Amino acid sequence: MISPRSVLSTFASYSVEEADFAIKIDANEYPEDLPPAVKNKIIERFSALCFNRYPQISALGLRQKIADQFGLKAQNVLLGNGSSQLLASLCFTFADRERPVVYPNPTFSMYGIYARLADSQGAPVELAADFSLDCDELLKTAAQKKAGIILLCNPNNPTGTVMKQQDIEYIVSNSSCPVVIDEAYQEFYGISSVNLLPKYPHLVVARTFSKLYSLASARVGYILSSDEVIAAAAKTVLPYNLNALSLTAAETVMSMKEHFSARIAETAAERQKISGALSKLPGIEVFPSETNFILIRLADAAALAKYLPGLGIGVRDFSGAPGLAGCLRITIGKAEENEAFLKAVKNFKNSNG
Ligand code: PMP
Repeated sequence: MISPRSVLSTFASYSVEEADFAIKIDANEYPEDLPPAVKNKIIERFSALCFNRYPQISALGLRQKIADQFGLKAQNVLLGNGSSQLLASLCFTFADRERPVVYPNPTFSMYGIYARLADSQGAPVELAADFSLDCDELLKTAAQKKAGIILLCNPNNPTGTVMKQQDIEYIVSNSSCPVVIDEAYQEFYGISSVNLLPKYPHLVVARTFSKLYSLASARVGYILSSDEVIAAAAKTVLPYNLNALSLTAAETVMSMKEHFSARIAETAAERQKISGALSKLPGIEVFPSETNFILIRLADAAALAKYLPGLGIGVRDFSGAPGLAGCLRITIGKAEENEAFLKAVKNFKNSNG
């Protein structure tokens, strides 16, 4: 008899449409592959790898490189198969039936799934109409429900909006449970909560190589926190968690970071271009974004989301998601992809009024 744990029947798995779009602006990936010099270096290092050997069990090479970047120690860094794995691990570590996972909503839809996987519950706190957070409301919910962990996505996916650093510190300093700042899109924003780590042992910062660093395929993410939090979360991660190819790719990217720095201003310029052009179209609301994507709202969002794939363009349709009625999320693509997207939206508007 096949009988999975009962909690698995209580939620739907994460599902996205996996179509092969010519213009793929639906998953917040960086639109370009690795810079050629970086890719060549990775391939060169792959050919020197002993594929028969397990990777270094401590993964100290990459952990140390990351720690050095932030002035931390290797024991303050935990690596994961993407930051998603670590966000789940943190829920396994700190949440349970009596201790829910508190997070603002709308946010990254996986947070609720991590909570359920940990046999816990998501306790969402609704954002205001402009997607700002009432910090006291979140703290009240966390205290009343005896939160096991608080997850804050900054900048937030899918809204693109950011929290003020003073609000983040206000929440961290008034919480007794671990508080995670998911900084998956931090590189595009420039402001981080890493500097608060020495002051707050229960603060965790999560980062990924999947966005600015074009390594979504390799699945490498990490969390930064105190010795205690990292040691506890590490118990939920299996040995040899990250394979040697991914470790090699991420280490190479870390040592060639200067090849990626121009991308930040390029992304911001493209984002401004698309946001400006869309705001000029009637009936489209564009939310401010500090990331490599923008959220828009329009009355005929679902129809536009159906129209675009016919032109080989894939965007993320959130129009049916709670708190996101009429919303679509558009990842910043290459300049010519963004042009094609804008042209398609204008055509759609012209033929649909
Ligand atoms: N956090 C947020 C807010 C994200 O948007 C994503 C990816 N879409 C992740 C975490 C996970 O990223 P990865 O597992 O690729 O590191």
